[in-house]
Amino acid sequence: MKIRNRLNPSNPCFSFEFFPPKTDEGVANLLKTLEDLAPLEPGFVSVTYGAGGSTRDRTLELVTRIKAETGIEAMAHLTCVGHTRQELRELLQRLADAKMDNVLILRGDPPQGQKSFVTAEGGFTYATELVRFIREEDFNFCLGGACYPEGHVETASRDDDLRHLKAKVDAGLDFVVTQLFFDNAFYFDFVERARRAGINVPIVPGIMPITNFEQVQRFTRMCGATVPMRLGLQLERVKDQPDAVVQLGVAHATVQCMELLSRGVPGIHFYTLNKSPATRMIVSALRART
Ligand code: FAD
Repeated sequence: MKIRNRLNPSNPCFSFEFFPPKTDEGVANLLKTLEDLAPLEPGFVSVTYGAGGSTRDRTLELVTRIKAETGIEAMAHLTCVGHTRQELRELLQRLADAKMDNVLILRGDPPQGQKSFVTAEGGFTYATELVRFIREEDFNFCLGGACYPEGHVETASRDDDLRHLKAKVDAGLDFVVTQLFFDNAFYFDFVERARRAGINVPIVPGIMPITNFEQVQRFTRMCGATVPMRLGLQLERVKDQPDAVVQLGVAHATVQCMELLSRGVPGIHFYTLNKSPATRMIVSALRART
């Protein structure tokens, strides 16, 4: 199933993102988690692609197993980090041979210890180049990409970032998923600017339910997302009570999602961080309301 056909404002789909566990036991647990999530009828799930090493193989293995063993549509993320064109071609062929219909195409972050992105010899510098390559090679994937309502951390200006996004979409993306945000105003403003710039593909909001105080601080530092002042103060007040942090995170994300749905988003993508109970609570609440 091509994800672009599932992104529909009149019947929005919920999707869940996971990272590949490091151990076989972790993989088994994740597959079990997915069985628990299946009754929520996710439109698709996605599995991130690491900076290197064995977890990269696990991404490919996991999406194949998820689709085969749970029947849920699964999408691998793929980055340019450390790969030559030939390696990327082979990885894409493996996905095509495994009958995967969708791939999320990314440039990738610089691996730990590196300050800036280094292009692999014989590889690509921007996600746009990989998207173009896939279209030229005639793979028949539905392609997603990333976008940044508050601007990508490396960009000089949001206008530049939007121009680069337009080029990436024009190279052959079918939909984009946003970086996480905690204030919907950034999303609505971004969608408006994107439409004015001629970007017409579905823009799926990415939501991360807060479940851990330190983690949210680390993430927002890394990706530049703004925590609204009121939410920040509330989190500060309960930071030493883990249950209260989760409750606050779930409540905030639920309110965010309700507003997004009421304004016609084509779907909502949840950054689960492999902690599905929070996402399950939110999606159950959203389903109950429809
Ligand atoms: P690009 O679209 O290539 O953009 C990167 C930067 O280059 C931007 O600042 C852009 O404005 C600029 N740029 C683009 N084109 C040009 C040009 N022609 N000239 C000059 N500047 C240009 N990372 C992982 O490692 N693994 C994952 O699985 C993963 N999944 C993600 C999923 C989502 C939904 C999102 C939002 C992010 C994900 N990331 C992942 C993080 C992502 O890899 C980083 O944010 C990375 O820094 C940028 O990737 P990109 O594909 O957006 O890059």
